[in-house]
Amino acid sequence: MDRREIAALLAYIGRLDPRTIRTLQGEARDQLAQWHELLGDVPMATPHGWDVRVAARQHIRTSPYQILPADLARPWESYRRDRLARHSDPTPSVDPDDQAAWTAELAGTRRAVAAGTAQPAQARAITSGRDGVDPKLEVRLREIGSCIPPAARAALAPYRPARAARETAVAQGLPDALSVRCEWCLAQPGEPCRRRRIGPDGGARGTALCASHPSRVDLAAAQQAQQPAPA
Ligand SMILES: [Zn+2]
Repeated sequence: MDRREIAALLAYIGRLDPRTIRTLQGEARDQLAQWHELLGDVPMATPHGWDVRVAARQHIRTSPYQILPADLARPWESYRRDRLARHSDPTPSVDPDDQAAWTAELAGTRRAVAAGTAQPAQARAITSGRDGVDPKLEVRLREIGSCIPPAARAALAPYRPARAARETAVAQGLPDALSVRCEWCLAQPGEPCRRRRIGPDGGARGTALCASHPSRVDLAAAQQAQQPAPA
């Protein structure tokens, strides 16, 4: 509260409890300075349930003693404590690799909750799923599109060549052979093609993964040509 708000508060309190009214010029100024010094960081009201006039009225209603700044600072501190106790830090929306921005957003959110300008974020487990997710964080998740970050995906590529080839093809707009069934080796959609391994005696000795059969690539290309290009 600034000095003007403190003066308004003292006027309100004076109406409810005339004992607090200071009529002498110097006394009134000292009282204003004292209250401002002690309650400067207490807001008049917040959008979420705090109103210093309610606290003042409650004290005058229930206590025979004249109101002191402490009678307003104490309820304000417990209001802050209560909100912070109910706040579980939500995942910040900034880049997790940017340590400074990440910490700043966590601290900023806590300050806003304590100051009463934001509602506490409850743990997701006890609220309904992803409803409380920050829209900016939602955008970031959509950009990445996978729980495997792009850098880790690139590092894994040598160890899963079929998947990497498929992703490269899709990224370049080429037909994705694995999206259709292979008419040659009967591999199901999503499964890589297989070729038969022949033993020295000419008998089959199981199958091995192989590159997509040309007929399957042609089929995927034909299917892709029929579909409208993605927007
Ligand atoms: Zn095949």
